[in-house]
Amino acid sequence: LPEYAFIGRSNVGKSSLINMLTGHTKLAMTSSKPGKTQLINHFLINKDWHLVDLPGYGYAARNKEQRLAFRRMIEGYILGRKQLINLFILVDSRLEPQKIDLEFIQQMGEAGVPLSIVMTKIDKLSRPKLQESIKRYQETLSEEWDELPPFFYTSSEKATGREELLQYIETINHSL
Ligand code: GDP
Repeated sequence: LPEYAFIGRSNVGKSSLINMLTGHTKLAMTSSKPGKTQLINHFLINKDWHLVDLPGYGYAARNKEQRLAFRRMIEGYILGRKQLINLFILVDSRLEPQKIDLEFIQQMGEAGVPLSIVMTKIDKLSRPKLQESIKRYQETLSEEWDELPPFFYTSSEKATGREELLQYIETINHSL
């Protein structure tokens, strides 16, 4: 089955987003404790695709062993996985583009992994601030990318962006 994976810095709102997408509140555990999701979790959606919850990256407490484990996970799961149709990389809409995210996006792009950017927690920003944040993110990526990847704007609190994401996935699934 086709797989769509979600990844991002710890605390970016990944568990909340996955709960919002799947419509279940107990599937992925939310936590304010960074770096909690360590394992790869698969959720079967509509009996025709898997939503894959990948471990969060980049919390300060990460030691050498954990960094190595993360790299092995990337190499072992993401790179070269035929079923992986798209990697959704989550970034916090409230923050300036973060080095760790930009580097990860760059690394995945160079490895040829099809990816999209998901800006999270947009309910926390006013409209003008959000527009500013989107513009800044896209301009920053444009410095390295000729063509920008797709962008999604989400709030798990308000269920914003849910239909857009699911529609995007369904559309790709139908074309497979
Ligand atoms: P994860 O570590 O990436 O899985 O992040 P979580 O989903 O556990 O969320 C981290 C924190 O951000 C929690 O306190 C959530 O309640 C909060 N959060 C997540 N998504 C949203 C959102 O869309 N809007 C708001 N306002 N808060 C959010």
